[in-house]
Amino acid sequence: MKILFNNASLFKSLRPFNDIGFIPTMGGIHQGHLSLIKKSNKLCKKTIVSIFVNPKQFNNKKDLESYPQNIKKDLNILKKIKKIDFVYLPKFKDIYKDKQKSKIKIPKKDQILCAKFRKGHFEGVLEVMNNLTKIVNPQKIFMGEKDFQQLYLVKKLLEKKYETKVISCKTIRDKNKVALSSRNFLLKKSDLNIAANIYKKLEKIKKNIKNPKNILTFLKSQKKELTNNFKIKIDYLELRDEKNLKISSTKKNSRLFIAYYLNNVRLIDNL
Ligand code: AMP
Repeated sequence: MKILFNNASLFKSLRPFNDIGFIPTMGGIHQGHLSLIKKSNKLCKKTIVSIFVNPKQFNNKKDLESYPQNIKKDLNILKKIKKIDFVYLPKFKDIYKDKQKSKIKIPKKDQILCAKFRKGHFEGVLEVMNNLTKIVNPQKIFMGEKDFQQLYLVKKLLEKKYETKVISCKTIRDKNKVALSSRNFLLKKSDLNIAANIYKKLEKIKKNIKNPKNILTFLKSQKKELTNNFKIKIDYLELRDEKNLKISSTKKNSRLFIAYYLNNVRLIDNL
């Protein structure tokens, strides 16, 4: 596993290869990340993982400051699994030429879910993914369904502009079915238990979605109930179509999306 600290060493190391799988991350490595790495290993000759906490995608300074970062621990985990050829650890100047705001705009119809509640977040995500794709020039990029809206927007942008394919990978969960996330490192065990109970309730809610005419009202009342029962703030609880992310009136090909705050930590999930 070779560590690439800047673009010059990345260009030199990757030049001979034309079957590269890329897993972009912000560190805080967990089994979710490792599942993407395993998939890349199966489908590509070389696998590169990047670790870069992208300041431009944080719409809240405190969130950026508290984001879990432990590069030494991450590298130890990555080294142990023996499936990675390169780890790319860029600096801000490797990715960006200036500190200006992203020129990429999210169309109005996509300003839903997290795009609505985290202003500027996806503009930052798309800018970093666009720049990373130009730099790494991979054949395939592996991304998780856990961040479904991110996967949807990135795939739409990159597959139009580049030959790179964006491969979607299933959400990996802990034994209590809580979706793994670097942000879980910020939670106490008691919070993780609450997250597990919220997931159980979400499964029930999805199961009970039946009458297409009443879905919006039903979800509105369930949102209220979840808020009161678990003392959480919920940004959204919505059933949306997997293909276009439009509000859905049927469970078929649809997912239930949630974003909520547990002790000031913002968690998202979809099922
Ligand atoms: P992050 O480090 O949180 O930016 O995530 C890097 C990549 O890992 C993204 O494509 C995420 O969607 C993916 N990812 C994060 N958590 C999970 C999970 N629990 N299961 C599968 N993929 C995940």
